Amino acid sequence: MDYGESIQRQAIITCPYCGWQQTEIMPLDACLYFYTCPGCQRALRPKAQDCCVFCSFGTIVCPPRQTNPRGAGYTESDPTD
Ligand SMILES: [Zn+2]
Repeated sequence: MDYGESIQRQAIITCPYCGWQQTEIMPLDACLYFYTCPGCQRALRPKAQDCCVFCSFGTIVCPPRQTNPRGAGYTESDPTD
């Protein structure tokens, strides 16, 4: 897949515990599931419905979700099936 400039890679993660804001560059091909807050050193994990910490705490969703808003790994069922 060609990732053009329509993909936003820079997001700001806001820690839900201490409010620390950290700019991070998101990987294009992997979801970041664990993130340690630089402010309070707590381990952040995504909320139940989210695939990565950027989707839960970031300013924008992760690249897989930008290309597929329904969610990373989502596969549409075949209506003819
Ligand atoms: Zn924190």
